[in-house]
Amino acid sequence: MNTRLDDVAALAQECRNRLSSMSSVYEHAPLGSRTTYRVGGAAALLVEIGSVEDLMSMAQLCATAEVPVSTLGNGSNTLVADRGWRGAIIVLGAFADVIEIPEGVGRGDHTLVHVGAAASLPMIARRCAAQGVGGLEWLVGIPGTIGGALRMNAGGHGSDMNEALEGAVVVDLARGVAESWKPGEFAFDFRSSTLTDEHVVIEAQLRAVGDDPDAIGARLEGIVRWRRDNQPGGQNCGSVFVNPVPHEVSAGALIDQLGLRGLRLGSAEVSTKHANFIQADPAGSADDVKSLIDEVRRRVERETGYHLRSEVRLLGFEDD
Ligand SMILES: Cc1cc2nc3c(=O)[nH]c(=O)nc-3n(C[C@H](O)[C@H](O)[C@H](O)COP(=O)(O)OP(=O)(O)OC[C@H]3O[C@@H](n4cnc5c(N)ncnc54)[C@H](O)[C@@H]3O)c2cc1C
Repeated sequence: MNTRLDDVAALAQECRNRLSSMSSVYEHAPLGSRTTYRVGGAAALLVEIGSVEDLMSMAQLCATAEVPVSTLGNGSNTLVADRGWRGAIIVLGAFADVIEIPEGVGRGDHTLVHVGAAASLPMIARRCAAQGVGGLEWLVGIPGTIGGALRMNAGGHGSDMNEALEGAVVVDLARGVAESWKPGEFAFDFRSSTLTDEHVVIEAQLRAVGDDPDAIGARLEGIVRWRRDNQPGGQNCGSVFVNPVPHEVSAGALIDQLGLRGLRLGSAEVSTKHANFIQADPAGSADDVKSLIDEVRRRVERETGYHLRSEVRLLGFEDD
C-alpha cells in the first residue's frame, strides 16, 4: 500500500477495500455539525466504524500510512480549527450504542449497567431512572458519550466517572489489542485520565443501585432544572477551563472577578450567564473561539497569577 495523507482518496479507498460493509468511509468530512460548538472545518478522513474488527483494521491502515487517528464521541468537548484536521476520525457506530440495564433490581440492591462507548449519557440516566436504577442521575446534564466521559473523567453534581466505573473494554490501537481495564488503570484525575488517542473505549460497566423510580425521576428533573437555570444554551462545550485548584479556586469565579462576561472576539463571546462558558455564534468561527480562550487565559494569568488549563479537546490548532 502506498497511501499518505497527501492522497486521502487512496487511503479512503484502502479503508473501503479492507473494512466490512458495516463501516462507512468519508473523505473531507465536515466536523462542525458533529460537535456542540457547531463550528470548524473538516477531517481529511472519517470512518464510522461498524465492528471491533473493522476498528483494528483501520488502525493498522492508518499506522502504515502514518496518519494520526482520533476518536470523536458526541463532540461536546471538542473544538475543530476552521482549517480542519489532517487526520482520520473514528466514530463508533451502532454496535457501541447499547444500554443494558438489569431487570427487577430491588431497592437498595447494587447492580451493574452495561453500556457501549457511543451510548449517550443523558439517555443512560433517563433509561435507568425509568427502570428504578439510580445513582447515575448526574449523567443527564452532560451531553456526551461514555467514551468521551471516560477520557475526560466527566463529572458533576457530586459524582464523576471515577466513582461510577466498574470496568471497561479499551482497544489499544498501537498494539492492536482489546483489553479489560479496571478503574485504577485510568488514573482518573480532575477531568483527565490516562486515555490517549491510541485508546478507543468500546464498552463499560457502571455501578448503580435500585431505588424508587419516582424518587430517581425527581432528582433527575432537579438536575435538568439546575442546568437550565445556571447554564446557557446555544453553541458551546460546557466549561472551558478546569478549576485551577479543584474545590477551592474556580475558573469561572476568576473570570467573573475580572468582569469578562460578555467579552467578545469576532464571533465568540464569554457567556453572560456563566463566566466559564464561551459561546460561538451561529455560522461562527472556531478560530475566534480559540483566540478568545487564549485571551481569557492571558488576562486571568496577568491579573491573578493563575494559569488556566483548558479542558476542551483541540483538533487542528497548532497546539492541539
Ligand atoms: C452544555 C454542556 C454541559 C457540559 N457539562 C459538563 C459537566 O457538567 N461535566 C463534565 O465533565 N463535562 C461537561 N461537558 C463537557 C462534555 O460533555 C464532557 O466532557 C463529555 O464527557 C464529552 O463526551 P463526548 O462524547 O462529547 O466527547 P468528545 O468531545 O467527542 O471527545 C472528547 C475526548 O474524548 C475522546 N473520546 C471520545 N470517544 C472516545 C472513545 N470511545 N474512546 C476513547 N476516547 C474517546 C476524544 O478523542 C476526545 O479526546 C459539558 C458540555 C456541554 C456542551
